[in-house]
Amino acid sequence: MSNPTTPTADLVISGATIVTDTAAFEGGVAIKDGRIVAIGEATAMPPAHETFDAAGLHLLPGAIDVHVHFREPGYTHKEDWQTGTAAAAMGGVTTVFEMPNVDPPTATPAALALKLEAAKKAHVDYGLYGLLAEDNIDQLEALIAGGVAGFKCFMGNTFGNLPSPSTGAMLEGFEIIARHGLRIALHAETASIMAWREKRLQAAGRNDPLAHLASRPAVVAVEAVSRAAVLAEWTGARIHILHISSADELRPLREAKARGVDITGETCPHYLLFDERAYADHRSVIRVNPPVREKRHQAGLWEGLGDGTIDLIATDHAPHTPTEKLRNDIWTADCGFPGVETQMPLMLTQVREGRLSLTDYVRLTSTNPAKTFGLYPAKGALIPGSDADITLVDLDREDTIAADRFASRSKITPFEGMKVVGLPVHTLVRGRFVMKDRRIVADTKGWGRSVRRIQRMAQPEPRNIDQTLAAVTAGRR
Ligand SMILES: [Zn+2]
Repeated sequence: MSNPTTPTADLVISGATIVTDTAAFEGGVAIKDGRIVAIGEATAMPPAHETFDAAGLHLLPGAIDVHVHFREPGYTHKEDWQTGTAAAAMGGVTTVFEMPNVDPPTATPAALALKLEAAKKAHVDYGLYGLLAEDNIDQLEALIAGGVAGFKCFMGNTFGNLPSPSTGAMLEGFEIIARHGLRIALHAETASIMAWREKRLQAAGRNDPLAHLASRPAVVAVEAVSRAAVLAEWTGARIHILHISSADELRPLREAKARGVDITGETCPHYLLFDERAYADHRSVIRVNPPVREKRHQAGLWEGLGDGTIDLIATDHAPHTPTEKLRNDIWTADCGFPGVETQMPLMLTQVREGRLSLTDYVRLTSTNPAKTFGLYPAKGALIPGSDADITLVDLDREDTIAADRFASRSKITPFEGMKVVGLPVHTLVRGRFVMKDRRIVADTKGWGRSVRRIQRMAQPEPRNIDQTLAAVTAGRR
C-alpha cells in the first residue's frame, strides 16, 4: 500500500551499484517528471508506475561532453544533429556542447537560429557555443540573448577556415563576455607560429604524418594558454582550455589557477591513450589539432587529471569521411575523428586497468563539466531535484571498437580494433530511455533540449571595466 503523502514515481531503477563523484553504493533511483525524486536503499523507494531491474549494472550520471562537432548546417555528409546525438546516446553521453565551426559559422543570431533548428533532431540535451571571431564582436551580446551557453574562440585555425582573431579582438570580446559571466572555450594554439612552421616544412618537402606534429610543437599551446590567461585575468572573463595535449601547457594553466583566474581545462582520450608512435600505424587518420604528441606528455596529462589541473575529459568529436581522412599528403587530410561514442568504453577500460577510479571517472566526465558550465546540480549529479540523466554501464562487457558499427556518420577512427571492457548499455535523458540494450530508441529523436533553461553561471566578475573599449569609446575616460 502506498503512502498517500509519497507521490508515485514514474520509474524506479533498482538493483544497480550507484556511482557518484564521491561514492559507490547499492540502491535505487526514483524518477518523476524527468527528475530524480529519491535515491538510496531499495526499501526507501516510493511506489512507481514502472520499475527497471538493473542488477549487475552500474548507474552513473550521464556523461557531459563539452566538445563535439556535429557539422550541421553545412557539412552534413560528415555528421548531422540526429547522427551526432545518436552517437552520444550510444556512448552514454546525455548532454553535449556543440561547436560553431559550421557553415554558416554560429557567429550571428541568424546563424544561431539555423543551428537551433538543426538541434531539434537531438536525442540528448545540448548547449551551443557561439563564435568569438575578429568580425563578429558586435554580435556577441545578441548571441547571448539568442541562447548560446558559451563561446568558442579559435586561436589556431581549424576545420571551416575560420581565421583566428587578433589579440585586440580577443580582448574586446573577453571584455564584453565577462560582463555576462559565460565561459569562453579556447582552441589554444597560436595560429601564426603554426602557419610559419607549416610553410617552412612544406618548402623543405615534408608531407609525412609526423610533419603535422613538427608544425605544432607544444610551445604553440604554451604561448596561447599563457596569452589567453593574461586576457582572462585582466577582463575577469571565464575561460576553458580545450583539448590539452601537452604536459608543458599545464604550467601556465596551474599558474593562472594559482593567481585566481577562472580558468578550466580538458583533455581527450586520444591524448591519454596515443603517443608519437601512433603516426606510423595510423598515418593521416590520427591527424588531429592539437596533435598527438611525444610519449613524455602522457604522464603529465594523467597527473594533471589526478591533481585537478585538468578539470574534465571531453572528446573533440570531429567527424569526417574516410576519403577526407585517408591521404598520403598529410597536409590535405582533414583533422580530427569521432569520439563521443568511444570515450566511455575507452575510459572505463582505463578504470578497469587501475589508471583512475570510477568516482574519479564520474567527476571528470559528468560532475566537473556540469560545474564548469553552470549546470550543476541540475545535471552532473544524482540527487533529488537533478535531471534524471543516467547511464547504466556493464563494467564486464567486452567489445572491440569498430567504426562500421558507429551511430556517427563518420566511419573511421584511430581506435579501430581496440579491445575495451565496460560498455554503456542504457542511456536515459530526463527520465526517458534514449538508448536501450545498445539500440537507439527511435522515437526519442527531438527529445533533446537546450540547457539554457537550467544554466546558472556564477555572478559575473568583470575587471578593469573603466578601461574597456565600451567605456573609453563612450568618452568616460
Ligand atoms: Zn574541436
